[in-house]
Amino acid sequence: MTGLDFRAEAEALQGQLIAWRRDLHQHPELGFEVSRTAGVVARTLGELGYEVRTQVGRSGVVALLHGGRPGPTVMLRADMDALPIQEISDAPYVSCVPGVMHACGHDGHVAIGLGAATLLARHAAELPGRVLFIFQPAEEGDGGAAAMVADGALADPKPDAAFGLHLWNTVPLGRVVAQAGPLMAAADTLRITVRGRGGHGALPHQTVDAVAVTGQVLSALQTIVSRNVDPQETAVLTIGTVHGGTAFNVIAETVEMQGTLRTFSPVVRETVLTRLQVLLDGVTAGLGAKYELKVHEMTSAVINDPAMAEIAHLAAVQVVGKAAVPWHAPLMVSEDFSEFARRVPACFMLVGSANAELGLNAPHHNPRFDFDERALPIGAALLATAAARFLEGGQI
Ligand SMILES: [Zn+2]
Ligand SMILES: [Zn+2]
Repeated sequence: MTGLDFRAEAEALQGQLIAWRRDLHQHPELGFEVSRTAGVVARTLGELGYEVRTQVGRSGVVALLHGGRPGPTVMLRADMDALPIQEISDAPYVSCVPGVMHACGHDGHVAIGLGAATLLARHAAELPGRVLFIFQPAEEGDGGAAAMVADGALADPKPDAAFGLHLWNTVPLGRVVAQAGPLMAAADTLRITVRGRGGHGALPHQTVDAVAVTGQVLSALQTIVSRNVDPQETAVLTIGTVHGGTAFNVIAETVEMQGTLRTFSPVVRETVLTRLQVLLDGVTAGLGAKYELKVHEMTSAVINDPAMAEIAHLAAVQVVGKAAVPWHAPLMVSEDFSEFARRVPACFMLVGSANAELGLNAPHHNPRFDFDERALPIGAALLATAAARFLEGGQI
């Protein structure tokens, strides 16, 4: 790929990238209901000469580009959905939809994906193999990637490698994270119901107080990560909601809790879930209560393949320079790119999008989230360069 400088070409596309991003930012859509966004994507890719399939996994878009000669297939992925958050912003491109905003940067991911698609289409004749673009709905917890896989997104052709990225607002603009191994955690959702026996607040001996039992359960759960998980490993067990009781003088019959478990290792995950059950058994039995535990496996961990990470790392160095590709500690947030990465050798990257001086560093999922749009050409060049490097067999 010595002849191709995708960074310079992507910088020349800056105006178009910003226009795409701002249009999407003004018109955010939730979950699987991304018909306008998917329409923009499908139309643009069609105009670029891609073979386009729509409504894959309900509302996803799959597009294929043929290179000038036979070769492997590389997949590039972007996610399209927004979040149910009321935006707080003075920007001219503030969301037009009350209560909905792009607070995770997926508007940027779509623009980056379309930018990479533009760059690769221009150079299709020079590239071997094929490029498969996947624009997915419902990344934010609703299983959009799994829905697209189930609907054949990886079936024809089956990709030999996959790359994806996330704009990241704690990484400064100009930096890229591209490394082997764990990057984002597996996520489970937990729902625990404690069942006691309700009664009069002044007659506790006639009851089993679900609130008191829940207090014991909550403190027992704190020992799992601190006492049962190997300190060299990583796990988070958070109980985010506790709901129970109806009045000051009524002992509650039931309490419901919801929480999340984040892990990287399946062994650690099993340890936590086993201990959770043992503690619930012991604490509730000892106090005369019962419980129900429901575990929903939401997303598996994003573990970057070493060979693909090397290609991604070289691409990142080519796009932003060696000094700007630091190692980053794995993140406890999750990403359903893992649905692709567990089936195809893959690398997921972080593209720095923070600019503290301009106030563009609010955290993801915050109502003031916004990022430095100069990250858009970096992301587009990064995806195009990684794809071209893989297709060329890892050559420079
Ligand atoms: Zn998000
Ligand atoms: Zn996201």
